[in-house]
Amino acid sequence: MQVTQSSKLAGVSYEIRGPVAEHAARLEAEGHHVVRLNTGNPLEFGFDAPQEMLSDIVRALPTSTGYTTSKGLLASRRAIAQYYETRGVENVDVENIFLGNGVSELVMMAMTALLENGDEVLVPAPDFPLWTAAPTLNGGKAVHYLCDEESEWYPDLDDIAAKITDRTRAIVVINPNNPTGAVYPTEVLESILDLARKHRLIVFSDEIYDKITYDDVVHTSTAALAPDVLCVTFSGLSKTYRCAGLRSGWMVLTGPTSGAASYLEGLTMLAGLRLCANVPAQQAIPVALGGRQSIHDLVLPGGRLREQRDAAWEALNAIPGVSCVKPKGALYAFPRIDLEMYPIHSDEKLVLDLLLQEKLHIVQGTGFNWPRPDHFRIVTLPHADDLEAIIGRIGRFLANYRQR
Ligand code: PLP
Repeated sequence: MQVTQSSKLAGVSYEIRGPVAEHAARLEAEGHHVVRLNTGNPLEFGFDAPQEMLSDIVRALPTSTGYTTSKGLLASRRAIAQYYETRGVENVDVENIFLGNGVSELVMMAMTALLENGDEVLVPAPDFPLWTAAPTLNGGKAVHYLCDEESEWYPDLDDIAAKITDRTRAIVVINPNNPTGAVYPTEVLESILDLARKHRLIVFSDEIYDKITYDDVVHTSTAALAPDVLCVTFSGLSKTYRCAGLRSGWMVLTGPTSGAASYLEGLTMLAGLRLCANVPAQQAIPVALGGRQSIHDLVLPGGRLREQRDAAWEALNAIPGVSCVKPKGALYAFPRIDLEMYPIHSDEKLVLDLLLQEKLHIVQGTGFNWPRPDHFRIVTLPHADDLEAIIGRIGRFLANYRQR
């Protein structure tokens, strides 16, 4: 019997864990040490979970083995509501907060509940590829708007405006951004919100890196600027709270939610369909958002994440023909390779060749729906010394690299 995959998967991919990752796993199985710079997994590089969160999970474990309500524990949703209120978001109702097994699950639910076949969602290029896969899997179409490398990787507002059609339902904002590290100023967010108002679009704001910003850059929650726009804000425990394996996230609907009663009903039904989110992880949310184990020490001058960001940025720009906009937030750098100097036709082949030769696993820019083979993403989680050595190896590899 031949079993073939559904045609629903056509055009869906997730290159961060794609075919090159399978080669990496094979190399590891053969006994090679592969430096995995493809996923933003803090624990892998020694960023332990905050002790307070672990203590709360352990303390609550005996009572965490049953289901919760589908939206999630009320105490955790209350903590989330309060968190966004302190960030200036008005009228956050716990009934409009959904806990999930990571932001990933919630993004899928948000699209499933919204899209009719052929509906369009504006998604940044480059993007975190879940945001392209989720509308596609749900019968929709991800329409990519460009972010401008010459302008700190901010969204190109003209490009957004030009791509709005009568099928456009929503616009996705990833801020702080994966993969570029951009953090958007208020004016940029305001301009996007103006377009959302004018064209009656929902705004999906992925803010999973909201506390990971460098150089005194202040992050603003999109929803705080738009009490009159339906915003869905996504965040979770994976990055800021260094607990990716707990698979814990939330989405918060704010703005004119009375007009979205049917959408909320659909989301509630879908939340019930997957019963509830991982319960031990739900227990950790109040203490996480309480802030005692804040990530600030890591991102301030002298902090490990900040030093690593600096080291990566400097080392990347030291490679001839490679240039990198300084990341202002998140855990990645997204440098450009000058194709005049390095004639690369396939960036997937580039990263595979690098993996096979150097045992370094980075991700090709086209894996983030970037239209040209002239970028790659590297995580900035290794220690600064290690990053310098790793990027030095990438530079030497490129110097001798000829693609056939
Ligand atoms: N959103 C962005 C921008 C991410 O970078 C990631 C993970 O890398 C996710 C969402 C997924 O988060 P979670 O672990 O909560 O599913």
